[in-house]
Amino acid sequence: MPNRTLVIAIDGPAASGKSTTARLVAERLGYTYIDTGAMYRAVTLAVLRNGIDPADDSAVSALARNLQISFLRDPDSGALHTLLNGEDVWQQIRTPEVTRNVSLVSSYAGVRTPVVELQQRMGEQGGVVMDGRDIGTMVFPNADLKIFMVANLDARAARRHVELQHQGAEIELDNLATELAERDRQDSTRHHSPLRKADDAIEIDTSGLTIQQQVERVLELVKERSGEEEPVSLPG
Ligand code: C5P
Repeated sequence: MPNRTLVIAIDGPAASGKSTTARLVAERLGYTYIDTGAMYRAVTLAVLRNGIDPADDSAVSALARNLQISFLRDPDSGALHTLLNGEDVWQQIRTPEVTRNVSLVSSYAGVRTPVVELQQRMGEQGGVVMDGRDIGTMVFPNADLKIFMVANLDARAARRHVELQHQGAEIELDNLATELAERDRQDSTRHHSPLRKADDAIEIDTSGLTIQQQVERVLELVKERSGEEEPVSLPG
């Protein structure tokens, strides 16, 4: 266990293994896991519910300024549920309609500014594992440990397929791969805070790794960063 509480940033494209790894690493360290994608999804849900055109930057940004996003810890699992104006929306934010629109909604500065401020407040005391697209580059550029998780498109689509099957949804593998690739394209080419690897992030390719291996790899890096590694003995 590290003896000080770190800020751990995990970024990467969709379905690269970030959220499961981040959640399990947080659990092992007794840290709080913060799913920043859930916040952009909650804004997107509010946009759709209010009948606002997701392409209307000023209407979306005006709405985002007045939303209240908060979190509630599930007493059983310890996971944080996202609340939108006090309502627990953790299921509603995972619908295909929200997923289709979230990249556009989260591309606006008027959406990102209040959401990033909230993330910075949540992480300022340390003891957090935060996953997203811009945590190591924008939200916590001085994070103690930055991981950039990648995986090839086939592996990512296959994982998402299994996840959706567990939830009872049947979506063609090809369609999933197309949807993931399109979301990554939008997220990496947007003007504000595009998805990119921070210069000092450590890349982990999860294509051939099990969840357990991903978690262990991150925990090893945490151990190194928290100064607990064995001192290197100098020759002579
Ligand atoms: O992580 P998840 O797939 O739930 O994220 C949904 C979307 O939210 C991403 O595709 C991206 O458009 C946006 N996002 C973002 N910045 C983050 C986290 C998510 O723009 N830090």
